[in-house]
Amino acid sequence: MPDGDYDPRATEEEWQNRWVDEETYAYDPEHEEVDPNTVYSIDTPPPTVSGSLHMGHLYGHTLQDFAARFHRMDDGAVMFPFGYDDNGIASERLTESELGIRHQDFERREFQQKCREVCAEYEAEFTEKMQDLGMSIDWNRTYKTIEPRVQRISQLSFVDLYEQGREYRKKAPAIWCPECETAISQVEQEDAERHTHFNDIRFDLTEPTESGRESFVIGTTRPELLPACVSVFVHPDDDENAELVGETAEIPIFGHEVPIIEDDRVDLEKGTGVVMCCTFGDQKDIEWYQAHDLPLRVAIDESATMTDLAGDYEGLSTHEAREAIVEDLDELGYLESREELTHTVQVHERCETDVEFRVSKQWYVEILDHKEEYLEAGEQMDWFPQKMFTRYEHWIEGLEWDWLISRQRDSGIPFPVWYCTDCGQEVLAEKADLPVDPLSDDPPVDSCPDCGHDEFEPEDDVFDTWATSSLTPLVNAGWDWDADEGFTMENPELYPFDLRPQGHDIISFWLFHTVIKCYEHTGEVPFDATMINGHVLDENREKMSKSRGNVVDPAKVVAEYPIDAIRYWAASTAVGDDFPFKEKDIVAGEKLLRKLWNASKLVEHLAPEPVDEPDELAPLDEWLLAELDAIVESTTEQFRNYEFAKARDRLRTFFWNTFCDDYLEIAKQQVEEGAASETPRDGGGGAADADPRSTQYALQTAHRTFLQLFAPLMPHITEELWHDMYVEGDATDSIHTRDWPAPRGYEADLEGGEAAMAVIGALRRYKSENQLPLNEPLDHVAVYGNVDGFTDAIAGVMHVESFELLDSAPEITTEVADIGLDYATLGPKYGGKVGEFDAAIDSGEYELDGDTLSLAGETLEADEFEVREERTYSGAGEMLSADEAVIIVN
Ligand SMILES: [Zn+2]
Ligand SMILES: [Zn+2]
Repeated sequence: MPDGDYDPRATEEEWQNRWVDEETYAYDPEHEEVDPNTVYSIDTPPPTVSGSLHMGHLYGHTLQDFAARFHRMDDGAVMFPFGYDDNGIASERLTESELGIRHQDFERREFQQKCREVCAEYEAEFTEKMQDLGMSIDWNRTYKTIEPRVQRISQLSFVDLYEQGREYRKKAPAIWCPECETAISQVEQEDAERHTHFNDIRFDLTEPTESGRESFVIGTTRPELLPACVSVFVHPDDDENAELVGETAEIPIFGHEVPIIEDDRVDLEKGTGVVMCCTFGDQKDIEWYQAHDLPLRVAIDESATMTDLAGDYEGLSTHEAREAIVEDLDELGYLESREELTHTVQVHERCETDVEFRVSKQWYVEILDHKEEYLEAGEQMDWFPQKMFTRYEHWIEGLEWDWLISRQRDSGIPFPVWYCTDCGQEVLAEKADLPVDPLSDDPPVDSCPDCGHDEFEPEDDVFDTWATSSLTPLVNAGWDWDADEGFTMENPELYPFDLRPQGHDIISFWLFHTVIKCYEHTGEVPFDATMINGHVLDENREKMSKSRGNVVDPAKVVAEYPIDAIRYWAASTAVGDDFPFKEKDIVAGEKLLRKLWNASKLVEHLAPEPVDEPDELAPLDEWLLAELDAIVESTTEQFRNYEFAKARDRLRTFFWNTFCDDYLEIAKQQVEEGAASETPRDGGGGAADADPRSTQYALQTAHRTFLQLFAPLMPHITEELWHDMYVEGDATDSIHTRDWPAPRGYEADLEGGEAAMAVIGALRRYKSENQLPLNEPLDHVAVYGNVDGFTDAIAGVMHVESFELLDSAPEITTEVADIGLDYATLGPKYGGKVGEFDAAIDSGEYELDGDTLSLAGETLEADEFEVREERTYSGAGEMLSADEAVIIVN
């Protein structure tokens, strides 16, 4: 090993480059050691190209890398791919903001070209950053969702679902984003709080009712929908308003007349109980429109501008129209009252614009009829953590729409569809011809199969981005179709994938849609397990956001700290929980790197040459290796269950406390004294005839095992130490492609060994406090405790001339040294009397009886006070304190 301190900057960079150059993490299915039955495959999330790497990427990908590195050692072969999701609205919006342009101002091809260029730049930068994080990705296996191979898979998926009868095109009300000017799907809506007004508006009847009633009042937050009003509804149980049913109302300002209809979907608790139905204000309007076959009045266009139906308000935005209409209603005497209100509306998650509903022709994947099957598919996966399944379940239970997959946008994968201009017949591309672009390619037929007409119109919508990213397991497994074999997979051994890792925020997006697609295409659940990571919060557990100014830039963190230390932090919380970014945890990681480096130097110093296993191991050495077996077992189990935080903590504690602080000190003494004994020496104690090979063997075995166990968590330093100490020359024998350690079958009294370590530690402290050299003989040591089997070891290590194992505890008197009162509980309960308690304790006027304390005429319960005891030994010699044993030194 080199002299001096660990240099993480140089070491990490060197290994990151070598790993990429030497293709250390390449998945080669042809390789003789790849067993198709045990290949561990990961379906990694392709980041949306919408900007730079953030802490969430760093965290999520680090967790995936823990799993990849562990399984590469444990299972032999791992497929850890990488991709970019670079089609769809996100990449369009990035291009628009990056170049300061609007997609509407360009011809489609031209705009698509600009998107590709902007995305390519971002992707190159992102790839470099991922490589700087030391991810064990197979960089030969990367994909982009816009590339021709993926376009082919995406269009194949469309054609297959169409042929299965699971897709349809329908003209119907759909959720619409007026900012992005496209239909969107249910999952793309999210809640947002809005300040607005609740307006009570009077509607006049065209004729008075029999009882003479001439008007009624409806409440609405959206008066700009008045020109789109098509009816008024009353609940059948609403006695007060029953007389209105069957009458006709006149819409204020706009003057058109609408029927008043009875329907039990009216919410009696809300407003006046009389409601208007407009096409469309919300989902209930759509239900009514369909159930009662109401006319369609489109007052708002695709960009949320008022249409000519709005009369004088034509051309205004919905927000401008809302204010103007309210003002006029007030002036004309129709506005009964107006109240401020904060309520929740649905917005498009990409642009946060309030959504509208528009009737348009869109393509849907039928999913509502298979809700049960998708739920069962979710149940078949192992969820880490299990609690995340609930989110999947709730999403499916709340589904109200089939999956709308057509988008009226530019940058996306085209539908492989043409329509007969005469009869509207849908004509799909041949599977063999995919990918196609119907805007430039011809349909596969010369005339309409239905009517014989010979002109066709291409579909110019593009697929929803999730329609393609939901196919990543099939993209990664090389799904395809050919005329002879039908659907095929280039790497069937990868599918179903072992793991789908992802964030909890996209369970309803990516995970759900992947289950749908893969299940419908292959009949199989695409994943054995899913690992759901939480979000990274700031140090105060607040969500990071630009507006709060608390965003941590990963570039800064990476510039300041070793990657291995940052990975140490990433393993500090259970998978699934949101967790704060804490620099203190990264600093703790840095300390562990130094400790590992320095301990390795000491191991190399004490055992410079490879040592074979001796016939018999000294008891403490055997104990260490038995403890190590237990750690190997628990760490393996924890990694298999994605319990990285538990694995890290237990491994660190054992390495730091047991191995470094206790065992290494003993080993140092054993080896140094053993070496000294090979030359004649005068006097000395029991260690003179110790064989250093037992200790050297244990040291090397434990050290190699530590490097392997730490390798998934801290890949750079472990690789460096492995090569320094255990690889000949410049060989490319990476620790990361070696076998994961297995328990070696050592047996020892683990508790006895721990007690013996405690006794040795106490004796070592005794010597140093009394300024005695470590090899100074001690005349007589008596121990009461479970150290049977280790007595010679203790005597040997600590140079004890006469060691006595006591059958019974030595005479120790235990006295109460102090009683502490819990003032927080006692204060409110006893008030001023607490002063009397203190006085009683000071003067010793109290009585301890089991769990209670009697003093000053009161009796306190166990949780109201605390007794501190002092043990004193009055026999010959000095008593040393250790938790596991009583030690008397003479
Ligand atoms: Zn939008
Ligand atoms: Zn036709």
